[in-house]
Amino acid sequence: MKTDPAALPGLSTLCIHGGEARDAQGALTVPLYNHTTFGFESTQALLDVINGRAPGNLYTRYGMNPTIRAVEAKLALIEGAEATLLMGSGMAAESATLLGLCQAGDHIVCVGDVYGGTYALMAEQLPRLGINTTFLMGDERARVAQALQANTRVVYFETPSNPNLDVLDIAAIAAAAKAGGALTVVDNTFASPVNQLPLQWGADVVVQSATKFLGGHSDLTGGVIAARQALIDRIAPWRKNLGQIMAPDVAFLLARSLRTLTVRVRQQNANAQQIAEFLSAHAKVLKVNYPGLASSPTHAIAAKQMRGFGGMVSFVFDGDAVQTSAMVDRLRLIALAPSLGGVESLATQPVTTTHHDMAVKERLKRGIVDGLVRLSIGLEDVDDLIADLQQALA
Ligand SMILES: *Cc1c(COP(=O)(O)O)cnc(C)c1O
Repeated sequence: MKTDPAALPGLSTLCIHGGEARDAQGALTVPLYNHTTFGFESTQALLDVINGRAPGNLYTRYGMNPTIRAVEAKLALIEGAEATLLMGSGMAAESATLLGLCQAGDHIVCVGDVYGGTYALMAEQLPRLGINTTFLMGDERARVAQALQANTRVVYFETPSNPNLDVLDIAAIAAAAKAGGALTVVDNTFASPVNQLPLQWGADVVVQSATKFLGGHSDLTGGVIAARQALIDRIAPWRKNLGQIMAPDVAFLLARSLRTLTVRVRQQNANAQQIAEFLSAHAKVLKVNYPGLASSPTHAIAAKQMRGFGGMVSFVFDGDAVQTSAMVDRLRLIALAPSLGGVESLATQPVTTTHHDMAVKERLKRGIVDGLVRLSIGLEDVDDLIADLQQALA
């Protein structure tokens, strides 16, 4: 698709046509090139590609593969970014980003609840390389400026966050980071670009797990980094030499998924809103976390920066850990499984899964109580989902 940046088409059009080109056989979309290497007419032609003087394909691990590049071009249009990198997983996106932006002696400020793998990377692996992180709790969000040090390179956060769906003000935190000379990196996995474009609000880099809403069918593992070209140029060598590229067949599958991204996510938003309202009115539910509820303490910030409130809902069941597990076990349609963002609805009890290994004191600081249940709302008929919750809660 030819695009004039002054007149970009709408998001659904970009999801379908962005980055795509008809191939020599007439296929309407970019084909799957599983090939590892590409041939040249001459040494001069090869050198022109290696030295960046001519566009071309070279070697798939470098990302110089037509399928990878087409999906990166589509995602750049979707994210409103100068460039993107396709990665083998969400954690590959995060680790390459932090390694590309930080070096020994540098410091990171991490705000609010983050994915377990992110926490482990910052708390356990990066310190071995001389990169240390200060963790601020969600209710310490106003203290970002004070937490910045002369060596702080990155302020990192998720919004909405896991599992309490807390919403952080991207523009406010990005402004504080920028004033202190740090870059802002946002994990946009829970929102997806349909609901939120962090770059628009001043973030410098967006990382996300394509395993979740972008893939959307629980059948691919991948990640994406979106940023301006100068930052991508610092991160790309890490992808190349840590060998973190997404496989071309996964990229092909991701492109197939992205063509339906807007319809999937918008329906997941609508289903989640109805389920959050149903749960709010239920006698066995003590609390519902969903930024789309007018009663949510973060509804105003969410309404400012999000185009939709997402497919993730969490709630506190009126029961102890064992009673809550029994309630989750009674669900028939909603599957008990970690992960999220797929067409099928899933439930997890964080104290038995994602936060099982966290000390009780740390859990309670984060509001991760025994009765907390996280739902990833899929595309089933919402009446069937509500009926399933109704019988499990009864
Ligand atoms: C799943 C997830 C990740 C990690 O993604 P993988 O594809 O499993 O590596 C990172 N951040 C968030 C918010 C996630 O939900």
